[in-house]
Amino acid sequence: MEKRVYNFSPGPAVLPVPVLEAAQRDLVAFPGAGCSILEISHRSKTFDKIINEAEANIRKLYGVPENYRVLFMQGGAILQFGMIPMNLLRNSGKTADYVVTGTWTKKASAEAKTQGSVRIVWDGKEGNYNRVPKAEELKFDPNAAYAYICSNETIQGVQYPREPDVGGVPLICDSSSDFLSRPVPIEKYGLLFACAQKNAGPAGVTTVIIRDDLVARSPEDLPSLLNYKVFAEGKSLLNTPPTFAIYVVKLVTDWLLNTIGGLEKMAEINRKKARMLYDAVDQSKGFYLPHAESASRSMMNVPFKLSSDELTQKFLAEAAAVDLCELKGHRSVGGCRASIYNAMPVEGVEKLRDFMLDFAKKNG
Ligand SMILES: *Cc1c(COP(=O)(O)O)cnc(C)c1O
Repeated sequence: MEKRVYNFSPGPAVLPVPVLEAAQRDLVAFPGAGCSILEISHRSKTFDKIINEAEANIRKLYGVPENYRVLFMQGGAILQFGMIPMNLLRNSGKTADYVVTGTWTKKASAEAKTQGSVRIVWDGKEGNYNRVPKAEELKFDPNAAYAYICSNETIQGVQYPREPDVGGVPLICDSSSDFLSRPVPIEKYGLLFACAQKNAGPAGVTTVIIRDDLVARSPEDLPSLLNYKVFAEGKSLLNTPPTFAIYVVKLVTDWLLNTIGGLEKMAEINRKKARMLYDAVDQSKGFYLPHAESASRSMMNVPFKLSSDELTQKFLAEAAAVDLCELKGHRSVGGCRASIYNAMPVEGVEKLRDFMLDFAKKNG
């Protein structure tokens, strides 16, 4: 087999090796089916079992209450940026509250404006999106259609330690880049969604966890694939779903349950990995400059800068030479970014930490 590098890509991102191996082992003939998962009907018993298990796994991992639907949709996270206001804002006669903490909430609020009235409750632009707001900076409208946040801004590397209190308003969360990375009290949310390709599987499927009373709000004049109510009634099978992507989500969630042992355990490992990198940054005496303020630091995406573009280029080239790959930061933030999702092994982060310490010593 071709060697594997440590892949710190923000997404599509690293997957657990046992998941890739299981998909490979069963690719040509899925046990009991006599043909590939790529070749079977989405209406077959085999696929029915797979999609039901993927849902059951997510329900078990998060403890999703009975009054929530788990949907597998297409169009990525960005289609949700539009669907949420189409279903919950456009006909409501209300305004939606958005908390803008980085690139993805900025984009989500812009998409929402195509459907209705949007109020920006807080915008982190002044600090170049280096933190999430404090509780006292957030005044939500008690009559808003919903309040919208992104739990983890993938590009800026800022993450809410816990969800803000939005009173009785439905809380909507883009959890694309920290989905299944830690326990979440789903009962505090109206809708939580995540594209799979950061932390839960390959590109092509987006998981939407939505409370029944919000499902019921969908207006009738929306096309069925854009209508949560119709989509939920069709149990995510209105049309051909991304069968292979859903299958890999099932494998990833099996791995989380059976190999890792659940989200408490996963969070403990993720905290340990993140701490290693932030310690290396903090102890470098300014050689590495973190983007996010300490209290808002992401456990999933760790952006940091070096003192010049030249030094950054040198860092990236020397890191890649020892198989530490995809560490370039997003152009809007610059510098470097290490994405250390669930599937990034502790050894990969240790190797990066050691490389960072060594590089600082030689170039500081
Ligand atoms: C990647 C990402 C998106 C965009 O996802 P697509 O599947 O490409 O639409 C949205 N929000 C967050 C937080 C992301 O990390």
